[in-house]
Formats: sequence, C-alpha cells, structure tokens
Amino acid sequence: MTSDRAPGWLRDGWPHIWLPYTQMQTADLPQAAVSTEGTRIRLAGGRTLIDGMASWWTACHGYNHPHVIAAMTEQLQRMPHVMFGGLAHEPAFVLARRLAGLAPGNLNRVFFSDSGSVAVEVALKMALQYHYNRGESRRTKFIAFHHGYHGDTTGAMAITDPAEGMHRLFRDLLPQHLFIDIPRDPDGVEKLRALLSDEADTIAGIIVEPLVQGAGGMKFHDADVLRDIAGYARHFGALLIADEIFTGFGRTGSMFACDQARVVPDIMCVGKALTGGTIGLAATLATDEVYEAFLGAAETKALMHGPTYMANPLACAAANASLDLFEREDRLGQAKMLERLLADGLAPCRDLPGVEEVRAKGAIGVVEFRRKPDAPELRRQFLEEGVWIRPFGNIVYLTPALTATAEDVATLTGVIIKVLSARTAQPA
Ligand code: PMP
Repeated sequence: MTSDRAPGWLRDGWPHIWLPYTQMQTADLPQAAVSTEGTRIRLAGGRTLIDGMASWWTACHGYNHPHVIAAMTEQLQRMPHVMFGGLAHEPAFVLARRLAGLAPGNLNRVFFSDSGSVAVEVALKMALQYHYNRGESRRTKFIAFHHGYHGDTTGAMAITDPAEGMHRLFRDLLPQHLFIDIPRDPDGVEKLRALLSDEADTIAGIIVEPLVQGAGGMKFHDADVLRDIAGYARHFGALLIADEIFTGFGRTGSMFACDQARVVPDIMCVGKALTGGTIGLAATLATDEVYEAFLGAAETKALMHGPTYMANPLACAAANASLDLFEREDRLGQAKMLERLLADGLAPCRDLPGVEEVRAKGAIGVVEFRRKPDAPELRRQFLEEGVWIRPFGNIVYLTPALTATAEDVATLTGVIIKVLSARTAQPA
C-alpha cells in the first residue's frame, strides 16, 4: 500500500509508533491489517494476503478459529482478569493440569507468565534458585548455543547468540554465560563434555531450543543431538531447560520437539501458539524434583517471581480452547503433511544460484542462501504477489498455520520460486 492510500489512523499514528528491530529513519509505512480469517490477512484497501508465517508462529489453527473465539468471548464477558495472588480461577487450574498431562515425563508444575521472554527469565531464575536452595550457590552460569534465540529481556538476551543478542552493545548489562556450537558430531559432543567437566560446579543449566533453532536461522538438529545434550546435562548435575516457545504445539510434527527425542527436560518453556495465536500467554513447567527444591519452612526458598497479568483468565481460556482443537482435530497429522508439502514445494529452489540448502521439518520450510539476500526487496516482491512472507538473515522460510491447505502451500511455495528465480536471473 502506498502512503497516499493509507488510512487516516495509520498516517496520524505513525509519528508516535516505534517499531521492533527497525531503523525508523528509513522504515516504510507498515501494511494496515484490518481483519483476519483462516490463513488470510485482509489489508485496508481490500487486498487479501495468504499468510506464510502465522504471525510469528502463533496462529497454529489459522486466525479467528470459531471455537477459540467463542471460549474467549464467554470468558471476556464473565471475568477478563483477576490477580493470581490469593485468587484462583478455573481456566488457569484446568490449563495447568492439561499442560502437565501433555508435557513429557514429570513436568508437573506450571508457572504462568505473559510472554516467552518472561517464561525464559523464570526458567533461568528457577534453575539458579534450585541450586541455591540445595546449597550449590556457585552454580550461576548457563551453557547456551550459537544461533540460539531465547528472547529480548536482559536475562534471555544474555543466553541468546552473542551476535543476535547484540552482546557487544549491551555488554555492561549482561551477565556472562558460555556459548558453544550445537554438538552435531563427535567433536562437538566432546567439546560440550569438556566444557561441562571443566566448569562442572559453576554451571546451573543448559538451555536449548529442541530440534529447531528458530529466530537464529531455522537451523535443525537431530533427536540424538538433543539426547546427547540431555545426557551430559544430567551427568554433570546441570538442569536442562528446553525452550519450546517456537517448537511447541505441533510445529515440528510432534506436540513438543522433546517428544521426538524422548527427552524429559528439567524445565520447559512454552508460549507463542499456546493461545492459538490470540493473546499473550506463556508458561514455565518444572519437574517434581525441581519443584521440590523450593519447598521448606523458609519464605526465601519460594520462587521469586510474579507478573501482574500472570495466568490471565482470558488467555488461559484461549489456551484451553486451543488444546481442545489439538484433541479434536489431527493437528500433528496436518503438521506432518505440511512437512512433505513444504519439502516438495520448495525443492526446485535447490537449483537456483546462491541457494545453500532447502530443508523442512514439521510445518517449517526453509530456503537458505550462501549470502544474505536483499530482505526488504524480497518482502516487497512477496507482497506484490499477495503473500505474507518475511525473510530474515540468509533465509526465506515458511511457518504457516498447521491448518494451511495444500493449495495455500502450493501458492506460497510457488511465489517463493517465482520471486527467487526472477532475482537470480538478474545480472549480479
Ligand atoms: N524463545 C524462543 C525460542 C522464541 O522463538 C521467542 C520469540 N521469537 C522467545 C523465546 C521470546 O518470546 P516472546 O517474544 O514472546 O517474548
């Protein structure tokens, strides 16, 4: 949309808006979205886009699923919010029980928060205080992986890849942790083992995005890599934190990515698709062993965290409705079908110059380039073709709703092939 056709609210509000990760001096006016339905986003002016990314990987059932909307409408009218200190409500208690039932192993305790980053902050504090409560107060460092991403708050940023998390810029703010490559081969495994062995009594935990490192470049690793990480964490007494904020709720083809490796982390973070893409909610789950370290007579042993909108009833009602849909409809089957459609649909990109790799896992399809393409230009071309796809770094990727149809995927992958072919046909 050009600015002369932009609605009044967009032009009037623009001088007051500060966008995420954006150089505002050169930023284009964003697209004005006015409504959503299924896999479609309608823009002011009447154009409709096919959505290739489910709004930062949240809208797993597509937008405006009637079951989720009905549950939220009912909850909104009855009780949108009450504080979680001293007051209990059914949506949160039901949701906690259901999440504990779905999560692997004995991840039986659920601490709610309002965003993924905060769920990660809670996980870090939980791990640190777990060791502290057990008399191991020297265990204050985390091992994290290159290309990992865990959020934008200070604690989460400190365990995000140093380049992605802009550690240089925030050097004086960030605690120092230990970074290592995902151990994909025996050499990598030995490096992880050696690091743990050298630092054994100072490591509180290892944090990993299981099977897929999302915002750090949609990089995949195998289930046995995750099993190795889990095995060494256990051996050296470090807690394993699985950040399933992106991978959870079917995105990789199983309910949680950890399920594919039969790994039970000590702490697990979920968010994003938890509410079916409607409203912010996240949770940090802990095993019985972790939880029990917080019990005792001393108040100071209690977990020291409590966000104002913790366990917001409206968000919990949305999450319960979203879980109903996972029970009633074959979302995991759909994710597996999407893996085949995305792999087949994107395969022709392998033959395009500059393409390093094409890969798919669950409902994630990725085209990786050897060098960074001109992302803003690609975004503009995708928009012209009527699809909502946002390349970043050196990848173009698709993470559609798990309910996306074969036709939707064919259109999305077809546009990617068309746009990338035209780009590479141009003189360098
Ligand atoms: N962890 C992972 C793996 C994520 O992908 C994200 C968000 N992209 C976060 C944490 C942070 O979540 P939020 O943006 O809700 O704070």
